[in-house]
Amino acid sequence: MSFPAPKSFGPKGEAEPQNCFARWPVGSAPAEPMAAILDLLRQGERFLVCSHTRPDGDAVGSMLAMGMLLEQMGKQADLVAADRVPAVYRSLPGAEKIRWVLRVRGIYDAVILLECDSVERSRVRGLEPYFHINIDHHATGRNFGHLNWIDRDAASVGEMVHRLVKAAGATVTPEMARCLYTTVLTDTGGFCYGGIRASTFEFARELAVAGADPVAIARDIYFATPESKLRLLGAALSTLQHEGKLAWLWVTHADMLHARAVEEDCEGIVNYAISIAGVEAAAFLRELPEGRIRLSLRSKGKIDVAALAAGLGGGGHENAAGVTLDGPLERATAEILAALKAGVDGTRD
Ligand code: 5GP
Ligand code: MN
Repeated sequence: MSFPAPKSFGPKGEAEPQNCFARWPVGSAPAEPMAAILDLLRQGERFLVCSHTRPDGDAVGSMLAMGMLLEQMGKQADLVAADRVPAVYRSLPGAEKIRWVLRVRGIYDAVILLECDSVERSRVRGLEPYFHINIDHHATGRNFGHLNWIDRDAASVGEMVHRLVKAAGATVTPEMARCLYTTVLTDTGGFCYGGIRASTFEFARELAVAGADPVAIARDIYFATPESKLRLLGAALSTLQHEGKLAWLWVTHADMLHARAVEEDCEGIVNYAISIAGVEAAAFLRELPEGRIRLSLRSKGKIDVAALAAGLGGGGHENAAGVTLDGPLERATAEILAALKAGVDGTRD
């Protein structure tokens, strides 16, 4: 087994704890998690940084910024993901350093998991034996790591990484600012979703001052749509259903093939359904090649789709969540509509 040999950072001759990492058993959530994490980053040498499967803007941007922080601290950082970085994020500085891997080996002082509610959410294999630092902001976040920092008030995990960068006394370079601005822009849906606070704009302001160009970043993300995505959107919109406060739409695997679409082309399609006036909750279903169904859920405030998704084995934020369900499409649609109807019925006009 490729269990990483614990390194001896503490005073020599000390039996317990063997090193600074041993102080934190699984589930630790100290009162000052950021300081504890910083302490470990300073004492370790080699880190693996990863995020969730199908990485989004927050996953990619916060991984890159974390890698830049570690580099400034003189550490070695390996960035990995179980899926390819989506095309819209491939022009971010350092994006080529994110290696597409299915399994990890090697010696690391710790694995830093960003935006994950479990080790499995990364879909990277071989992570179990390592020391896990969990940094997350999801409503459904859990203390699965050895050292856990979950801030549900942060607009993006990038916002937490930014705090870490400042606490470390590191420099927010224009490149890092660009990555971090991407995290907040995309995770708030272009500063639209609930959960935005005055501090969100303060974060964005600091990044703009540090050299992030909001117009160029928005252009790279929202005005760089591949044709396949628009063709897939056409297929999805032709299925749109609207009943009272609910709207839903879907694509089959055949639709994906016909549009020559890739997974990332599905990003944002659910927003067309939730954009309808009077709709409180929306679902987008996508048939996977093997027959299971990927589900994206959105709500406008009253309905907690994170709780709903978590109940089905997924997770997310109160107004944006997801889960993978068993097929076929008709069965998954019936299951999610029943759950959403129960949620909508529970809200008052
Ligand atoms: P999306 O619909 O954009 O894929 O995901 C919306 C939000 O829900 C994101 O914050 C994403 O991380 C979260 N999410 C989506 N799918 C899953 C899932 O299968 N498990 C968990 N834990 N979170 C998910
Ligand atoms: Mn996020």
